[in-house]
Amino acid sequence: MLVRVQTVALDGIKAVSVEVEVDFSPGLPILGIVGLPEGAVREAKDRVRAALGNSGFHLPAKRIIINLAPAHLPKGGSSYDLPMALGLLVAMGKVPGERLSGCLFFGELSLDGRLRGVPGVLPVALFARSAGFGRLMVARENGSEAALVPDLAVFAPETLLDLVKHLMGEVPLAPLPATDWHGWQEEAQGEIPDLAEIKGQEYAKRALEIAAAGGHNMLMTGPPGSGKTFLARAMPGILPEMSLDEALEVTAIHSVAGRLSPSRPFVATRPFRSPHHTASKNSLVGGGGQPHPGEVSLAHKGVLFLDEIPEFSRTVLEVLREPLESGEAHISRTSYSARFPADFQLLAACNPCPCGHLGHGGRPCRCSPAQVAGYQSRLSGPLLDRIDLHVEVPPVPAEVLVALPSGESSRQVRARVMRARSIQYERNGMGIRNSVLNGKALEHHASLAAPVRRILLDAGQRMGFSARAHGRLLRVARTVADLAPSAEIAVEHMAEAIQFRIGGLGSWGGVG
Ligand SMILES: [Zn+2]
Repeated sequence: MLVRVQTVALDGIKAVSVEVEVDFSPGLPILGIVGLPEGAVREAKDRVRAALGNSGFHLPAKRIIINLAPAHLPKGGSSYDLPMALGLLVAMGKVPGERLSGCLFFGELSLDGRLRGVPGVLPVALFARSAGFGRLMVARENGSEAALVPDLAVFAPETLLDLVKHLMGEVPLAPLPATDWHGWQEEAQGEIPDLAEIKGQEYAKRALEIAAAGGHNMLMTGPPGSGKTFLARAMPGILPEMSLDEALEVTAIHSVAGRLSPSRPFVATRPFRSPHHTASKNSLVGGGGQPHPGEVSLAHKGVLFLDEIPEFSRTVLEVLREPLESGEAHISRTSYSARFPADFQLLAACNPCPCGHLGHGGRPCRCSPAQVAGYQSRLSGPLLDRIDLHVEVPPVPAEVLVALPSGESSRQVRARVMRARSIQYERNGMGIRNSVLNGKALEHHASLAAPVRRILLDAGQRMGFSARAHGRLLRVARTVADLAPSAEIAVEHMAEAIQFRIGGLGSWGGVG
């Protein structure tokens, strides 16, 4: 007799259908599992056998083979416990097979028969809905995450025995109420620092607004304590709110990474990630024994902030190039290959010199010219090609701060950002931000009248900048004009774009 139970394997953040087949036949009593990695088999056997036993079900003395199909799919983790246990129960005649129709099972079992949560439930729920499963069975701690997906009945029993009683109609469970994601969004929104809390720094705040509006990557240079980190943290609050579809995609990544909790099952606002400069390649782009999303993917649809960027190793920064170009992270290992979305905005910060005080009056810089040159040269290279905006963030003296009025709120700035975004999408095509315009598209969408072209050429001659720097300037000027809003790039838009290149570390020529 052959029994089939439906579950899934995770491929990146996609769930793929897997069938658990259970076969009983006469012969020497064994329990064999085919289709799981070798190391996982013994543990799965122990858990399933004990969970069944402690729920009052004992395996018969038969030859029992469990097969997870298709065989070619890499399968890891403990989420096959629950479907395997259900398959055994059907084969043992404890639950009629038809009671499982339209059900998808995903969860780990503990030895005493309770269901345990596993990472990656949101993609599973999205799959269940799109594949036409009416019901999804998961552990209680994964319930609110699964119930984010509308039009799917999610059941989250405490124990295997509760699930059996539910399936048999003895003690039916109610499907979980849909998770209120608007509530999460409001709560999470309140945790983002507001621009109004930053006094002064009008120049840097303006740069942040331009970066948000055009999707431009940005580098901030300034001494410690000037507020670079606070500015960066405020960025998600001026970017457009995520749609539910975007939020579900982002949450799916965090789900697979095992970073959600029952009390916070939803990533409702644009992520802000700031890995330390000692971060490894793996932690940045992903990898590990099982495919695991890295910081670039956890920052998907949000902000990746690299503080003290010259302190990151060259080889680590090198791996950022691919996701910055393609919006995806590809991970290749001998045992698997995976891809995760990684469409993030890069904010970076650095000091002007190793001691941090070069050019900022108050304290003297103690660095030698060679040290300063060495520090700044670590910033050259291909990564800087992807950074359109360079802005200086000077310290604001305390006595000046006190006298300053509070600035605009993030909400006010966001309204302008959103208007500039919709102007861009209408002109460039849906979802195409100015930051990705290149070559022909740039010529087409950022054409310049003669007086504006002259300013650009003059500045170019004076400062000797390269063709690439030229492109970055056009993109920024286009965004400045969209914020105005103005269909044409006028003289003042170009002038503002040019001034953003002067303060920062990235020189005109050296970067291009
Ligand atoms: Zn110094």
